[in-house]
Amino acid sequence: MTDLSPPDRTPRRVRHELRFRRLTVQAVQRVTPHLIRITLAGDDLADFTSPGFDDHAKLFFPDPATGRLTLPTVGPEGPVWPEGARPTMRDYTPRRYNPAARTLEIDFALHDAGPATQWAERAQPGDILGVGGPRGSFIVPTDFDWHLLIGDDTALPAIARRLAELPAGARAVVLAEVDAAADEQPFATEAELTLQWVHRQGAEPGTGTALLDALQAMPLPAGDFHAWVACESAIAKALRAHLVGQRGANPKWVRASGYWRRGAAATHDTHDE
Ligand SMILES: Cc1cc2nc3c(=O)[nH]c(=O)nc-3n(C[C@H](O)[C@H](O)[C@H](O)COP(=O)(O)OP(=O)(O)OC[C@H]3O[C@@H](n4cnc5c(N)ncnc54)[C@H](O)[C@@H]3O)c2cc1C
Repeated sequence: MTDLSPPDRTPRRVRHELRFRRLTVQAVQRVTPHLIRITLAGDDLADFTSPGFDDHAKLFFPDPATGRLTLPTVGPEGPVWPEGARPTMRDYTPRRYNPAARTLEIDFALHDAGPATQWAERAQPGDILGVGGPRGSFIVPTDFDWHLLIGDDTALPAIARRLAELPAGARAVVLAEVDAAADEQPFATEAELTLQWVHRQGAEPGTGTALLDALQAMPLPAGDFHAWVACESAIAKALRAHLVGQRGANPKWVRASGYWRRGAAATHDTHDE
């Protein structure tokens, strides 16, 4: 794989040409009780690219009443929508892209209610989904002394990607929150991995302190590290504050995101400097 890391270990942004793709559901798999993996296929994926482990694509859902999917064209300023025709859209991580098969896997963490969750629960082979982007990637060098990855169900696709791309000799510490042991999933990695799961055990997501409590109690390895955090927004902010304020994390090397916000639809908060 091409090494995109600059020598000073400053994460780097890469832009991609904006593309909107009309894809077809090829397979639906219930990976765990709260996670559905959807495999999308189509020739539109021929030039798909996603070099950053926490890239996100915009998913565009068909109108549930008509089944019609509206996608924008690409203008000089970005997407151009037909008048009054914006579909429901949500951010998701490209979990795995297979260029030979022209397939793209997306993992949907299931929660109480929301159009994306509902679409995934009902999806069947042959259904249509629109995918926009990724518009850009954030390339985090791999040569830190060690890597910290913290997140809830929505972060598992990005965490899995990061672990898959870390080389042998790298060291990773992962703290992941799911509802119960049945929602845990195995991660493939060549890195030396310390993995701790915490469980909500039926508590409403985004309400507990399980991740923060576990992080506070966790001894961290010596050396410099990059920390990546993604979960409910207020929790991500608190985790970042703890890492920077009490665990000596370099604020420039902490990337903390709210992948969703309690009580609000379709949010993406960044808590970086
Ligand atoms: C960059 C980025 C990448 C992401 N990647 C993934 C991914 O790969 N897989 C994935 O599953 N999610 C991912 N997410 C999170 C996903 O976009 C949100 O969870 C989204 O809000 C789900 O849409 P929805 O239509 O189901 O619910 P919405 O209509 O957006 O929200 C409805 C209600 O549900 C609540 N809610 C939203 N998400 C959750 C949740 N996870 N648990 C509990 N309550 C929730 C909201 O607070 C709101 O009250 C990502 C988000 C970002 C910003």
